[in-house]
Amino acid sequence: MNNSQIKELEAIFSKENVLTAQEDMIAYSYDASHVEIRPEAVVFATTTEQISALMKFAYREHLPVTPRGQGSGLSGGSVPLNRGIVLCMDRMKRVIEFDPANRLITVEAGLTTADIDPVAGEANLFYPPDPGSVAFSTIGGNVAENAGGLRGLKYGVTKDYVKMMKVVLPQGDIVTMGNKCVKHVAGFNMEGIFVGSEGLLGIMTEVTLALLPIPKHRESALAIFNSLDGAAQAVSDIIASGVTPSTMEFMDNATINAIQNFKDCGLPRDAAAVLLIETDGEEHSAVFEMAQVEIQVKKNDIREFSRAKSSEERDRLFEGRRVALNALASVKPNLILEDATVMRSRLPEMVRGITDIAQQYQLQVGIFGHAGDGNLHPTFLVDMRDKEEMARTEQGVTALFQLAIDLEGTISGEHGIGLEKKPFLRNQIGAEGIRLLQDIKKTFDPLNLLNPGKMFDMPEPTACQSA
Ligand SMILES: Cc1cc2nc3c(=O)[nH]c(=O)nc-3n(C[C@H](O)[C@H](O)[C@H](O)COP(=O)(O)OP(=O)(O)OC[C@H]3O[C@@H](n4cnc5c(N)ncnc54)[C@H](O)[C@@H]3O)c2cc1C
Repeated sequence: MNNSQIKELEAIFSKENVLTAQEDMIAYSYDASHVEIRPEAVVFATTTEQISALMKFAYREHLPVTPRGQGSGLSGGSVPLNRGIVLCMDRMKRVIEFDPANRLITVEAGLTTADIDPVAGEANLFYPPDPGSVAFSTIGGNVAENAGGLRGLKYGVTKDYVKMMKVVLPQGDIVTMGNKCVKHVAGFNMEGIFVGSEGLLGIMTEVTLALLPIPKHRESALAIFNSLDGAAQAVSDIIASGVTPSTMEFMDNATINAIQNFKDCGLPRDAAAVLLIETDGEEHSAVFEMAQVEIQVKKNDIREFSRAKSSEERDRLFEGRRVALNALASVKPNLILEDATVMRSRLPEMVRGITDIAQQYQLQVGIFGHAGDGNLHPTFLVDMRDKEEMARTEQGVTALFQLAIDLEGTISGEHGIGLEKKPFLRNQIGAEGIRLLQDIKKTFDPLNLLNPGKMFDMPEPTACQSA
């Protein structure tokens, strides 16, 4: 970018909200995945109008723009592949309107996810999607990735709570999509198309989210298994029995030991796997459902089933699950975390398949994740400097994605495609599916300037189109 372009950015955002120094470009060159590309400028927005002005300027000057929440994404979504401008949303973090009567909250897209509950809690409401990154991810990032979380099994994921949004389109127009009513079918489900759009179609600046009443009671338990198969089969059996726990999180032996080395959370080091299970609702129904869970887990290869006797005990177990990724990250220099997902009934086959892949390619893999959603996080523990190990890891990851597809599952349950899974998307949705995505992108962003190169490539323009 040249000096006059930087000056124009400073005119839109003011000088102190535009960075160009190399040390700053390094800080905004990566997210929680493995790709690093330095932008040419970083800007911090505080209003929708500034973003509109930015996109009009970017379109005039043909400059790529990459939206960024907190950069906690695990698929490279906020890495500026074609350099240009990184647009930071994390200073747009106001609660615009809290409407307890309609159980709605409207927030700016840069608000941290965990900052909703203290406001909602004042009216005994809560925002259910709780990704492991809840303490630092933004609502805009959650919507752009359709983030899931630990309560997804009973309460669903981000898409189930998005009612309305204000969006800046790639050429600078400001539009409002969706509606605050319970029902709304006036036109296409346009707010829906932005959920999971990974910053390719527009920049969300305000989002209206649905809230739910806080459950009156929670029952939590830890089921300790002698085999991976036993734990995976128990998940399938619990769902088949008609019970819907709010949480059913899986951790294998490698993950348990990594957690215990990282922080003592009271997990059994010698277990093959554990399930952390929670039921909630009215006290009698939460207790009844947990009794049903106990019957189902006891049919499998279980060693112990213990209920948390206090909220401190429950918090300690949940903390173990929340630090799982950090704990695994401390085992080897690098990790590659995947989120391939299958139907719950196929979870036992998925777990066996992952174990086989680890053995076949001699890889160290920790498995944890949202088992109740069929969404495991096989985590490859690697040293990226070791080329031979990385070659085996690449083969293992490819085999993992194929396994998920063969089991009628998906290559991504919640982290999105971004750059990391881009080479595998065609296997999932076919050439026709890719073509449709390209056509939609072209309609919104004809010059391919908003977060270009993510999810899929755009076709090269033909001689006649470029003329
Ligand atoms: C420790 C850890 C635990 C995690 N646990 C979970 C989990 O349980 N479930 C889960 O789903 N994910 C999880 N994640 C992944 C990540 O936190 C989520 O994908 C989250 O939604 C990203 O939010 P962010 O604000 O950091 O977005 P970023 O990483 O900055 O951006 C993600 C994508 O959203 C786009 N984007 C950001 N803001 C906007 C906007 N306002 N408008 C348009 N596009 C935008 C970006 O361009 C990018 O493509 C975890 C990550 C970590 C590091």
